Amino acid sequence: MNLTPLDPVAPGGTIGILGGGQLGRMLALAAARLGLKTHIYCDEPSPAFEVAAAHTLAAYDDEAALAGFAASCDVASFEFENVPAAAAAFVAARVPFAPQVGALELTQDRLAEKNFAASLGLGTAPFAAVSSAEEARAAFAKIGAPAVLKTRRFGYDGKGQAKVSSPEEAARAFGAPAILEGFVDFAFEVSVVAARGRDGSFAAYDPVENVHENHILRRSTVPSRLDAAQAAEAALIARKIAEALDYVGVFAVELFATKDGALLVNEIAPRVHNSGHWTIEACATSQFEQHIRAIAGWPLGSPERHSDAVMENIIGEEAADWLRLSRSGALHLYGKKEMRPGRKMGHLTRLFPRR
Ligand code: AMP
Repeated sequence: MNLTPLDPVAPGGTIGILGGGQLGRMLALAAARLGLKTHIYCDEPSPAFEVAAAHTLAAYDDEAALAGFAASCDVASFEFENVPAAAAAFVAARVPFAPQVGALELTQDRLAEKNFAASLGLGTAPFAAVSSAEEARAAFAKIGAPAVLKTRRFGYDGKGQAKVSSPEEAARAFGAPAILEGFVDFAFEVSVVAARGRDGSFAAYDPVENVHENHILRRSTVPSRLDAAQAAEAALIARKIAEALDYVGVFAVELFATKDGALLVNEIAPRVHNSGHWTIEACATSQFEQHIRAIAGWPLGSPERHSDAVMENIIGEEAADWLRLSRSGALHLYGKKEMRPGRKMGHLTRLFPRR
């Protein structure tokens, strides 16, 4: 259903979220602060259930459960881009829904996403579509070494990616429709977290510099090393993307900052983002509150940053050290029962006076 700028969800109303990970949990906490209720829908017991007013534990193709969920919400959204687009479309046919399902579909397909960025005139790594082992060889001949073969769908935290350095390796790595990307020898990585309201208003947080380890975000630092002109360019990239998609809600654009000063779009995430967690403590409005404001038709809050910040993820067994961590910054633990290797268990944000 279409959203209009004229019907904000009043306090006491219910925000529906498809997906129940830590992002859903932090959205629910932010919604509660604004006097809004949250209904979380997830196909497994989830860390968001325990902080939400209501939850549904059901499969994403359970139409009766989806219909019941939609009926209980004033507006609905999602917190995880691998939520099936069909589930999102089913809910969106029944209740105001943001961001729109088209943005979810676009970002579920790396090829469509890269073509979209290129169509806006934005820089990306060189890329080519690969739908067979033969095409993988041909793509490698075009792109050159080193390159990364990435499955078009269902990749996150480095899943479905293989670095390849010969045509044979590219062909062997092929298993599902993919893109082959030139490996960018970047200076550093940044992301921009931004929001667009139902009325078309736009607000971007300062770009943040990100370090990944084993394909998982380790640390986000703000301010980044981008200069003022590059930071403005990063915000403009985000704005172009949001306007082209007629986007409503918070999203993130991951960028490579190259050694010659260019910004290349790596990925668009149609949701609140791990590299935006520092906004909870360091900004006037957190990314979670901002998303709730945007989809509920409230005015966007100020993204102004009053402190410098470093956010570190707490991964796997690191969470066992919670007592020591609780002394060294703003500790967030996601309530996950099992400390599996590579699993994001929480994060820690440290603030510093703004330089
Ligand atoms: P992605 O899943 O596409 O966000 O990739 C996860 C991480 O892998 C990125 O944040 C980079 O650190 C690295 N990576 C992905 N694609 C490339 C590339 N084309 N060149 C260099 N590093 C990459």
